[in-house]
Order: sequence, then structure tokens, then C-alpha cells
Amino acid sequence: DKASIGVTGLAVMGRNLARNLARHGHTVALHNRSEQRTRELVEQFGSEGDFVPTYSAQEFVDALARPRQIVIMVKAGAPTDAVIEEFAPLLEAGDVIVDAGNAHFADTRRREADLRERGLHFVGTGVSGGEEGALHGPSIMPGGSVESYQSLGPLLEDISAKVDGVPCCAHIGPDGAGHFVKMVHNGIEYADMQLIAESFDLLRGALGYEPAQIAEVFRTWNTGRLDSYLIEITEQVLAHTDAATGKPFVDVVADEAEQKGTGRWTVQIGLDLGVPITGIAEATFARSLSGHTDLRSAARGLAGPSRTPLSGAEAERFADDVEQALYASKVVAYAQGFNMIQAGSAEYGWNIDLGAVASIWRDGCIIRAKFLDDIRSAYEAEPGLPTLLTSGEFRKAVENGQDAWRSVIATGVRLGIPTPGFATALAYYDALRADRLPAALVQGQRDYFGAHTYRRVDRDGSFHTSWAADGRPEAEA
Ligand code: NDP
Repeated sequence: DKASIGVTGLAVMGRNLARNLARHGHTVALHNRSEQRTRELVEQFGSEGDFVPTYSAQEFVDALARPRQIVIMVKAGAPTDAVIEEFAPLLEAGDVIVDAGNAHFADTRRREADLRERGLHFVGTGVSGGEEGALHGPSIMPGGSVESYQSLGPLLEDISAKVDGVPCCAHIGPDGAGHFVKMVHNGIEYADMQLIAESFDLLRGALGYEPAQIAEVFRTWNTGRLDSYLIEITEQVLAHTDAATGKPFVDVVADEAEQKGTGRWTVQIGLDLGVPITGIAEATFARSLSGHTDLRSAARGLAGPSRTPLSGAEAERFADDVEQALYASKVVAYAQGFNMIQAGSAEYGWNIDLGAVASIWRDGCIIRAKFLDDIRSAYEAEPGLPTLLTSGEFRKAVENGQDAWRSVIATGVRLGIPTPGFATALAYYDALRADRLPAALVQGQRDYFGAHTYRRVDRDGSFHTSWAADGRPEAEA
């Protein structure tokens, strides 16, 4: 029998996706550039299901039932193009190529247009959940044509994570939509991780807690509205003791956060689209800053305030205040991320259903959380919602939490504990709800030095003041 789907690129992600498919009863054709990985998979896991190992591109293509469905799971960038070019000439009209790697959505748009011309479907697909997710049920974000989803969708839904039987997989939209949404997922992940890290730093710096005590705080938080995978693993990491030194693990790790680039992409595209994703930007810059070791050692001796830990009533409520600040900042970060998806969708005509995105992020992916079910409900109740901040429970959370939020940031400022994520989230909240912004003054400055003109609150039209003429500003239409 022919295979219903094939996977090429059998490193950790591809191997686990192939096994997941086979475990669900699908016959999976296997291929990898170097034969060794294919042989190993069959030797180690061949008993898990029906695999068809192949050792050439032609053999791989011949092993597949039509329309052929090929999942490419190789390094993003040039390797993906190379693999597409290896297979595309062997395929026939209506066949489907799926790129499940972490491609930039602009590359996906280019590839989709090219392959569409050649009669092939190209499905750029976001996959989140790491290697464990790939094996046990990831969150899957496929783009591409509606037609390609008809044959591919059921297979992908079958192997995805489920929430009450609902698959964490949905057709996102044409061409680059799936990879765009995966990119924003990762951007939100950066913001969420940074906010959690700041919470840890505040609890340690302001209360003098040890990592193990802070792990307990996170464990408690994980039973409430912050219930999520990232909070859960944070608890585990903080509770972990380094075997070699007996010290808290977090104290023996070099404090230089690395990145593979999806956060940076999100910020770059956010700038292009003009979407204020300040939480993701601060988180990305916080990673960059941490890695600037020369800069940090040059600045290390600069004076700061005395760090007297909090005491009394202030100390007693601090952990709860941090929980409120974390939750409120998280609402802002997600609100910004969903606005970015909305903006991308409008720009590229993708017609993305934000409620469906929240729904498929509820499980399988790295930002999976109880919270996402509330986001799903918010968008289902009001698909055109301008911002999550004004919706039901989220509005209550930020409004009721604002005193704690302000107080936590003020404590950080007073003690010299950096909270870029919390602070930018609160600034966004205050800026959005402001009656008037100093942007009016910026417009005045722009008109002064560059005759860029301004609009008025009381009259239609475009105005310029002749600032330099005789020192007496005069407005003209
Ligand atoms: P890698 O990104 O390390 O890629 C290794 C695979 O790519 C191998 O199968 C390798 O073949 C193949 N490859 C590399 N260059 C070429 C080439 N020029 N021609 C043909 N094949 C090539 O593997 P991962 O499994 O970690 O990730 C696969 C994809 O999934 C990546 O795009 C990654 O960004 C994405 N991803 C990864 C996640 C993770 O947690 N790791 C999570 C979500 C997505 P060979 O064996 O011959 O060297």
C-alpha cells in the first residue's frame, strides 16, 4: 500500500512527527538527506506503526498515494529551498508540499507563489511544542490553500494536541499566514518568559527569597489564573539543584539569554506593520542586553540605590502584588500579539480567525495556558474586538490589578531591579487609555523643523504654521 503522507528531514522534529503520524495509524514514507537517520528511525521505532523507508527522492515520491503529501522538516532557509527543488520537479499537479520548519513567512509567500505557478500546493505550517510536542501532540498552524487543507487537515488534526476533543490545529489562512502566526506565537513566548523572569528577579531582590522558595510561589500561582506550561517549567527550573555544586541551578547558569531569531523577526515585522508590540520588543532587547557581556562589565560599578529588602505589610503583600502585575502585563503582551496577527491578516488579506488561533494555542504549544481559553471566548463573543484589554475578565484584571501593578514597578525602580517588561506593559496601558497624548507636541515639533503639517482637533484639513517667518505663528490651510 502507498503511504498517505511522507516526511523528509528526520532530525529530532521530523522523526517525532513521523512517529506521531504512524502511531495514529497512518502509513508514513520516510526520507532524509543522509540515509543513516532513516535507517535509525526504522530500527528503533519501526514497531510503532507502518513506515516506508526510502533512500532517494524518486523512491520517496513513488511511495506516496495521490495527491502526494510531503512534509519537509529541515533547517529553515536555504536547506528548505534545496529540498523543495529536489522534490517539486518529481511531483504532479495537485500534490502538496508542507514546510513544517520555522520559515520566515515572507519566504513562505515566495515559495507558495512559485509552486502555485507550477500547479503544486505549498503549505507553510507552524509547529510548536518542541520535540515532545511533535511526538505526543503539537499545536499546528497550517497556511496555504483551502483545497490543500481538505486532504491534509484531517491528518494534521489527528496528530495535534486536543482540548476536550477539539484539535489544536486549524487552517490559518492563505500562503504565509501559518508561519506568520507561528512567528507571533514565538514573540509572545519571549514576552511571557521575560515577564516571568522579572517576577522571579523582583521576588528575590525585594524579599530576599531563595530560588526554592520562589519555586513554591510559582507552584501556587500555577493553580490559579496563571496556570500554564511556562509557569510550570519555571517552578521546575527554580526548584532544581545543580548536582555538581549543590547550588540552585539558576545560580550556576550564565545569565546571557540566547535566541534563534523568531522574536527578532516579530519585532522587525511589528515595526514594518506599525503595531506597537512593545512587550515582545522589550523581551527581545532584554535578551540582547544580557548577552552584551563587555558592556555589562564596563557598567557593573555604576551606582544604584541601596537594596534594603521590603518588610512589614509591604513585604507581606508583595508576592500577591507581583502576581497581579504579572497577570496584567501578560494580558497586555497577548493583546499586543493578537493585534499584530490582526494587522498581518489585514495587510496580506488572510482573514485570520483570532478566536481559532487562541483555541489552537490552548494546548501542545509552548505558551499553552488556561488563559488562552479566555482569549478564545473573548474573540468568539466579539470577533472585531479592538483590544483584549477592554474585554470582560481581562478588563477587570487590569483595572483591579493596576494599583498592585504600579506599586510593583515602583518598588523595582526604588530598589534598582530592572522591570522592562512590566514597565512597558503599564506604559502601554496608560497610553492607550489616555484622553490626550503628547503626540500633539511631537506633531508641533515636526511641523516646526520639517513643515510636516498637522491636523487640528477642531477643523478638518492639513495645517502648517510659519514658525520662522516673523516669530508669529500663523496657521494656513
Ligand atoms: P535541524 O533544524 O537541526 O535540521 C536537521 C535536518 O535538516 C536534518 O534532517 C538534515 O539532514 C536536514 N538538512 C539540513 N540541511 C539540508 C540540506 N541542505 N538538504 C537536505 N537536508 C538538509 O532539525 P530539527 O529537527 O531541530 O528542526 C527541523 C525544523 O523544525 C527546523 O526548521 C526548526 O526550526 C523547526 N522546529 C524545531 C523545533 C525544535 O524544538 N527543535 C520546534 C519547532 C520547529 P541530515 O541528517 O542529512 O544532516
